[in-house]
Amino acid sequence: MHDLSDIASWLRHHPVYHDTSVHSTLPDPTFLAQGETVVSFSTNNYLALANHPRLVAAAKQGLERYGVGNCESRLLGGDLEVYRELERRLGALKHKSDAVLFVTGYMTNIGVLSSIVKAATLARLHGFRPKKRHKYAYYSDEFNHISIREGIQMSGALRYNYRHCDMDHLESLLQAGAADGTTPIIVSDGVFSMEGTIAPLPALVALAERFGALLYVDDAHATGILGAHGGGTSEHFDCYSANIMQMGTLSKALGSIGGFVAVEKDVADVIRLTSSAYGFTCPPPPDQAAALLAALDILEEEPERRQRLWDNQRYFIERMQPLGYTIISTQTPILPVLIGDAETCQRHAMELRREGVHVDSIQFPAAPVGQARLRFMMNAGHTGAQIDHAVSVMARLAGRGERLVA
Ligand code: PMP
Repeated sequence: MHDLSDIASWLRHHPVYHDTSVHSTLPDPTFLAQGETVVSFSTNNYLALANHPRLVAAAKQGLERYGVGNCESRLLGGDLEVYRELERRLGALKHKSDAVLFVTGYMTNIGVLSSIVKAATLARLHGFRPKKRHKYAYYSDEFNHISIREGIQMSGALRYNYRHCDMDHLESLLQAGAADGTTPIIVSDGVFSMEGTIAPLPALVALAERFGALLYVDDAHATGILGAHGGGTSEHFDCYSANIMQMGTLSKALGSIGGFVAVEKDVADVIRLTSSAYGFTCPPPPDQAAALLAALDILEEEPERRQRLWDNQRYFIERMQPLGYTIISTQTPILPVLIGDAETCQRHAMELRREGVHVDSIQFPAAPVGQARLRFMMNAGHTGAQIDHAVSVMARLAGRGERLVA
């Protein structure tokens, strides 16, 4: 305990962990904090759906019908039609015959990646005799989300990291691994949350086919955003394969809470029966499942919402261009502006906040040392004036010559 108190007092004085923002309303994308209106460039509520009247009305109806919680594992008899309907719709969004719902995106990655390689072992306990025994090895992009890294670690399977989006490196690792007789599982974020890059899905699918691998794609930041219907990276590249397990979250563009993996029916059933994070815990509250069905309706009916997000993304990039900053990637609504030094980055974030603009300062361990960045996350609800204001503060900061990366 002594250690923990020491750590707590050290953290309280560490600028990186200094909490500047407790809101009294939800960012849509503006929020109230101590009576002041602040514009958020850090919310994952990309399409401003979290307090959309249709989601709120659907949740209210759900509350009246089901109450506030599910209070039982779905595997053990706590299943509801509304969850099944949500899974059917999420499967359809991803061109898959089924999907499995988890309480969060984080638990989806932990739950699927830790257990999928042990499915045969678990089934053997119940008398299953496999025709062939598979030993698996994970191949994971170095910048994958922490829940992926932890899920892989928990699996106990062999694991290799490949350099960010470096297909040559992945290929050489797969080639080396082919000799040890393992079945490869390639794992990649669809959109990388700290970089804003899109994974090269067609190249990943080609490698997966060549090496007989499964491919697991985390579309947390792509679902609802990429592709003409918000289907994610597969729709963006028009690249589908029976081999892809498509993971997504419901806490970002879809405005609520939950996570899912869209797969073919057989695989879904195996996940339901073997993943502890599905079978030994509860799903998101049923009213949220009802709200999410409304979110999926809006995704289909209001493509202009997604269009506004992309228009805002382009407008921000255009306005930033003359200022001389480096935006690490301009492929997605995640626009990380490279600052370099962690303390300068933190100072900039605080200055922006004083001007009523909330932006996350991302530094080690979330970004490599020396590559601290201000991560601007664009939103369908931003107005031109709000973007202009944020850019004008960035212009003032650039004027001090502090933008240069060492
Ligand atoms: N994957 C990625 C790439 C993420 O960015 C996040 C959330 N930051 C998650 C998974 C976890 O999702 P959730 O917040 O729904 O648990």
